[in-house]
Amino acid sequence: MAGRHAPGGGPVTDGGAVTRGLHDLDWVITLDGGRLHHAVLTDRQAEDLEYDGTLGVEVPHDGPFRLDCGRLVDGLSIPGVFSRMSLPRCRRCCTVNGLPQGIGSPKNDGECRKILGLEDRDGSSS
Ligand SMILES: [Zn+2]
Repeated sequence: MAGRHAPGGGPVTDGGAVTRGLHDLDWVITLDGGRLHHAVLTDRQAEDLEYDGTLGVEVPHDGPFRLDCGRLVDGLSIPGVFSRMSLPRCRRCCTVNGLPQGIGSPKNDGECRKILGLEDRDGSSS
């Protein structure tokens, strides 16, 4: 879906049909950190991210990767626990995903959990 290095970007989404991977629940941080973003990833990229914890960092990949807020970045990583709890979510990424602005990964935010339909899963995940 997300074109590899399609010069103009090109159509990226299929009307929001996304697989719910880690990156959808934890979101990702860019190499400069500081904020949690939601990235638009292919299934393959999502798998690699979940496997390695990073994308485009150790194995330079078919980036750049597009964030929902429109930024293009060369590398991503899954935030560590501390980041997941304490970093602010990117506002535009929140808006695009229909989530409230706030702190922490959607998975760790009660309101986001409701929106994502995670409410019934009981908050026992770390
Ligand atoms: Zn963002």
